[in-house]
Amino acid sequence: MSEVAENTRKILNQLPENVTLVAVSKLKPATLLKEVYDSGHKIFGENYVQEMVEKAEILPKDIAWNFIGHLQSNKVKYIAPFVSLIHSVDSFKLLKEINKQALKNQRIIPCLLQIHIAQEDTKTGMNEEELSEILKSNELKDLKNIDLRGLMGMSTFTDDMSVVRAEFKSLKNIFEKHKIEFQKAGFEHFTEISMGMSGDWKIAIEEGSTMVRIGSSIFGSRG
Ligand SMILES: *Cc1c(COP(=O)(O)O)cnc(C)c1O
Repeated sequence: MSEVAENTRKILNQLPENVTLVAVSKLKPATLLKEVYDSGHKIFGENYVQEMVEKAEILPKDIAWNFIGHLQSNKVKYIAPFVSLIHSVDSFKLLKEINKQALKNQRIIPCLLQIHIAQEDTKTGMNEEELSEILKSNELKDLKNIDLRGLMGMSTFTDDMSVVRAEFKSLKNIFEKHKIEFQKAGFEHFTEISMGMSGDWKIAIEEGSTMVRIGSSIFGSRG
């Protein structure tokens, strides 16, 4: 088995059954993704629109492409035909654009709302107030071509795992607080919490993560 396939397998073996692995393949060549794919794992995460489109063109069609990077409204149209889950919806405006492009493609696109939980203000995401505003909005029910599946968050880049754990706890709290409202608003599958990367996924799972986004522990460092 290839090294990247081996790394994937080792992580999968440690995940509880209810946790999904998103293999984060940004900046890595399609040949490496194919090695992971051939070992049986078909869920990949990408950060850049053009890169994801190019890889999707040449790799097998049954890959579940997860978009996890910052997404500009004017680029949604390029990924709308095939994206399987967008983790990084950070504004109502973006959500409306995804709905519009999903409709054009006669699809329903699953989305997560990205919440700002880190101390750094470089990490994007909405605050809880913006989340509540989306829930209260009369427009939400008109968005028939998106399916809100849950929340996503990124912790502060720090060695202090108590900070990271507290941030994951805060995301879990926000999720639990609003879950029922989303489900009542028609999003029955509002069940996912996407949190945890190579350095902190074990903590994330302890704090309730259902999706971990792991890059360097599978594909090696990007630097
Ligand atoms: C790059 C990236 C990851 C994966 O990071 P690693 O530390 O390499 O596991 C996860 N989530 C997002 C949003 C990323 O940009």
